[in-house]
Amino acid sequence: MNKLIVFLLALTLGGNLMAHASVMSTMSHTLQPGLDKARLQLADIEPLIQHYRQVPGITVTELGRSVENRPIYMLTLGRGEKRVLAWSQMHGDEHTATAALFDLLHYSTAPAQAAWQQEWQAAITLHIIPMLNPDGAAQNSRVNAQGIDINRDALALQSPEGQILMAAAKQIQPHYAFNLHDQNRFHAAGDAPNPATISLLAPAFNDARDVNASRQAAMQLIAYVKPWLDQQIPQHVARYNDTWSPRSFGDNFAAMGFSTVLVEAGGHRADDHRQVARRLNGQLYIKWLDAIASGAYQQASLADYEALPFNRSGGMKDLILENVQVTQATTQAQIDIAVHFHTEGDRVARIQEIGDLSVHSGYHQFDVSGLAFRAGRAYPLDAALTLDTAAHLALLTAGYTHFSGEPSRLTSTSRLPVLVNPLRPPQQAPQLRQGATFLLVNQQGEVVQALLNGQLIDLATGQIRNPLGT
Ligand SMILES: [Zn+2]
Repeated sequence: MNKLIVFLLALTLGGNLMAHASVMSTMSHTLQPGLDKARLQLADIEPLIQHYRQVPGITVTELGRSVENRPIYMLTLGRGEKRVLAWSQMHGDEHTATAALFDLLHYSTAPAQAAWQQEWQAAITLHIIPMLNPDGAAQNSRVNAQGIDINRDALALQSPEGQILMAAAKQIQPHYAFNLHDQNRFHAAGDAPNPATISLLAPAFNDARDVNASRQAAMQLIAYVKPWLDQQIPQHVARYNDTWSPRSFGDNFAAMGFSTVLVEAGGHRADDHRQVARRLNGQLYIKWLDAIASGAYQQASLADYEALPFNRSGGMKDLILENVQVTQATTQAQIDIAVHFHTEGDRVARIQEIGDLSVHSGYHQFDVSGLAFRAGRAYPLDAALTLDTAAHLALLTAGYTHFSGEPSRLTSTSRLPVLVNPLRPPQQAPQLRQGATFLLVNQQGEVVQALLNGQLIDLATGQIRNPLGT
């Protein structure tokens, strides 16, 4: 769907988007243009790398090459004694921090920030490796071109990308290491009914999860920013799983004595491209540079770290319909239905969970009490059919959710999702993994809402209640 239309539809929904506007407007740093995208690849950042080659005070090094011979770059700024290493996108499909690192460079090198830049660069030497896994980025995959998860290769070191990161770290011997990732959008922030937009962790360096001086410093860096994060995104901040992960870089770097901070950028409502997490990441980097330069983080209380709730895995769903009346044979029930949007491959929305979902929260959530599930019928494409939105709404009202037959007979200008010969057609009652397409009828038996490939449509107005991208 056209982004402008998505935006306008989002505006009509009101509430959610307004909540974000306040987050955005409090941000003081400007973003690097061109990086608000569904994915970032090497071609997206290479012009920026070439630009920074020309900027005085920045050294660009090619550390080596990926399996498919793509360059892996490092940018170095500052001349201070405190050494900081930050790397992003070791998982190729996790690019939020890559954009935020370029936001930091964009901000730090702006003329207006000359004084600030002087200040932190006197105390810190900062090494940035943006996009450690350019092959994975090219495929939008987590793993590298060998199929190796680089973040499980810190011991074996069989991937060139893992070798490059380990060699850089051994050479730099950073005091502080920032391991920058994206997490899946289904983690909730503890018991809060919200996604964990930012999750932080000072990873363990042993199975006992002991705390030594360097891990304590990492915990304090996190504690230092927690009050600010709580202010920016209340109840959207969490702690990542702290189980010791012996094959991972963060855990190994912690064991090597580097104060290591894991940052996981997560989902946010009405924010498909994770721009909220991106802005917050950039702001966090600025705060951490200040706190490391001044040592201010050493005053932070570990209680603030411990107060971070853990990620609640699977706590968030893409869509929850509450209180759907379902009749199956003689069994009548009132149940919740969760829908999952498969963002890879076929992009089909499927029924993910059925029953009491009151412990979960949805990016979109609608109480449909008083409405009953009804399977839609197939409208046969026996002859040529021209479908506009009004005709589509009329067919839905008459009980047809999808079309069967020769697809070329259908000419559609409908702005609603059009389903032709769906692979998993509706069943008489909701079933797990079935396509999320069905009707909701009122007590008079009239069809009043329709779910089409996970999008809920109010038939009286034609409004999509959960437009994609919102
Ligand atoms: Zn990751």
